[in-house]
Parts: sequence; C-alpha cells; structure tokens
Amino acid sequence: MIQLYIPLNFLGVIYREIKQALTDIEKMFGLLDRRREVADAPGAPALRVDGGSVVFDNVQFAYDPARPILHGVSFEIPAGKKVAVVGPSGSGKSTLARLLYRFYDIDAGSIRIDGQDIRQVTQASVRQAIGAVPQDTVLFNDTVAYNIAYGRPGAGQDEVEAAARAAHIHGFIAATPLGYDTMVGERGLKLSGGEKQRVAIARTLLKNPPILIFDEATSALDSSNERAIQAELESAGRNKTVLVIAHRLSTVVDAHEILVLEQGRIVERGRHDALLARGGRYAEMWRLQQSGAD
Ligand code: ATP
Repeated sequence: MIQLYIPLNFLGVIYREIKQALTDIEKMFGLLDRRREVADAPGAPALRVDGGSVVFDNVQFAYDPARPILHGVSFEIPAGKKVAVVGPSGSGKSTLARLLYRFYDIDAGSIRIDGQDIRQVTQASVRQAIGAVPQDTVLFNDTVAYNIAYGRPGAGQDEVEAAARAAHIHGFIAATPLGYDTMVGERGLKLSGGEKQRVAIARTLLKNPPILIFDEATSALDSSNERAIQAELESAGRNKTVLVIAHRLSTVVDAHEILVLEQGRIVERGRHDALLARGGRYAEMWRLQQSGAD
C-alpha cells in the first residue's frame, strides 16, 4: 500500500504545482475573469513547430457577446520576423496577445502557428512555443531563481545565472544578501518595474521559445532604463517570430509590418517609411511622439 501511496502523493504535489503555475500565468496576463474554459480537442496532437510563423485570419472576438472587440483582424508574421501593433488604449492590442496564447477561443476566423490551427493542438504545446514579456510582470512569491527558472523548469543554477546576466539583472541579484535565494513578489523583496521586466526577460531567454510576445510597459521607466530594456528585448527577439505591442513608436521602426489598430480594426498597415509617407494615423502618432506630446 505504501508503495502505491508515495507515488500518488507525489502526483498530488505535481498536480498542485502545475495548477499553481497556470494560475500564475493567468495573473501574469492580468486576466481577471475567464470568459469560458478553453479545452483541448479530444485527442489533439502537440503543435509541430517549424520556424514559428503566425497567422491571424479574419479573427473576430468578444469577451462579452454584446460588445465585439476584434472585427475580422488578419495579418501574418513570417517565421523570424517582427510585427508591431500600435493604436489607442482599448483598441484591442493586448487582446491579440491573449488570443495567440489561447487564453480564449475566438468567435470566427482562425489563428495558426506553422499552418496549424491553435484550437486543434494542445494548449500546453502552444504555450511552450511562446514566450511573453507582459506589461506588468507579476512575480511569484518565491525566490529570484525560481522566478527565472520558471521559463524552463529543471534549468541549472549556471543557466539561470547566464540568463540573468544576459538580461542585465545579475549584478542587482548578486548584490542582495541572499542572492538568487532572495524571496521576491508581494511578500518578498519589491522590485522596480524595470527590474521585474528584466526578470521576465531572463525567464524568456532561458525558455528560448521560437515565438515571442512583447507587451511594452505603458508605465514610464526612466529613459536610460527604457533604452537598456529595449536593447535587451531587441537581442532576445533576434531571429525569432515577434509580436510587439508597442507604445513607443521608436521601437517599431524596423518591424516587418506595423499594424495600426483602432476599435478592433486594422485601419493602416505597412512599413514605417511607407506609413509616414502616407500621412495618415501612424504619421500623426509619430509626429506627436517626436514633438514630445505623447
Ligand atoms: P492598452 O493600450 O490600454 O493596453 P489595448 O489596446 O491593449 O489597450 P485591450 O486590453 O486589448 O486593449 O482591450 C480591448 C478592449 O477589451 C477594452 O475595451 C477592454 O476594456 C476590453 N477587455 C479587456 N479585457 C477584458 C476582459 N477580461 N473582459 C472584458 N473586457 C475586456
């Protein structure tokens, strides 16, 4: 009996840990409610990743059926390219990120990764393929090491440290009395917005997924910090498929395509120079940001 009991007890611990991890991810995305449960299709296979191209094909979505949020959004991010989404607050930018991560199922259209509809493969395999650095990183009430290694459970201390160095947070961690064993989160050491983002970048670097979602912070970091974080995101995104939800247009200049979203519709799209030449919404946003009237 005891032989059976121990593995079952162990499974219980693992189950609780997985459940906690899922709750943490939801917190990470600031999801306060769940519109409906997203479930794997019976016998769904794992996503087969080959480069990590992303397609949104005529996507329609509403959190509440009475209030549609996305009205037929279509775009493609070829493998290894960066697409940036800009637009006013509430236009649906972060919703695109949540849908790619499959927190919700869409109402019409499809979202495909390497040609596979994300509803037809397991959620776990979709989430495995994507790394997200959200606007406001929520750290778990655990050690710095746990928070970074969360990107790839089982990673060794040397790998955690290498990721922290690459995200330029190692010096800060090493200067605390307990180093990587320092507790962070609501009940531990409080980190600044920039430090938290660096922890999220380290976590993503360690996970090393083919697809990245960057949801830029709206909260103002000081500008040298902001430039440094931008540079780290830039290097983390090299050769990856990147969806960036941008608030500062300087970060989208080199995007393969820029989408201007307004009230859940793409109203302009193209590369930076072409959009400037067009003299429309994007050009206006650019002019305002350049004149510091952001
Ligand atoms: P911001 O630039 O301010 O982050 P955004 O363009 O990313 O805004 P979204 O967060 O995608 O906007 O929100 C789009 C719309 O959907 C908003 O009107 C918002 O109020 C609504 N919304 C977002 N999350 C939910 C939710 N969980 N339940 C109901 N409505 C929601």
